[in-house]
Amino acid sequence: MSSDCLFCKIASGDIPSTRVYEDDVCLAFEDLHPQAPTHILVIPRQHVASMDTAGTEHKEMLGHLLLAAAKIARDKGFAEDGYRTVINTNGDGGQTVFHLHVHLLGGRQFVFPPG
Ligand code: 5GP
Ligand code: ZN
Repeated sequence: MSSDCLFCKIASGDIPSTRVYEDDVCLAFEDLHPQAPTHILVIPRQHVASMDTAGTEHKEMLGHLLLAAAKIARDKGFAEDGYRTVINTNGDGGQTVFHLHVHLLGGRQFVFPPG
């Protein structure tokens, strides 16, 4: 836990969030400013700042986040229609919260490449 990290505080429950899934490795909650009808953030319980600071020791956790996102999409019923998973990294990547997270977006058509 990083004491000044927003998502660590959400993971500990110090800051409220609308949780949609959790297990021993990760939790998922609704994004405060949704960019799609469904916009969920999947985060590890462990504080890792970004993909830029992730290492081979995080291999299992990273796979876990993606599989959790896929399960949430199936459970919420939009997997077959399709969805977008996004990991923003550092400034040019548009990262604003430096606790690694997977955006799970669904419920509308997405364009590629994203802006
Ligand atoms: P990033 O820009 O780092 O890829 O994504 C950070 C995301 O966190 C943004 O989509 C933003 O809307 C969301 N966010 C920022 N602060 C909060 C908060 O306090 N609660 C929740 N649920 N989401 C937040
Ligand atoms: Zn954190």
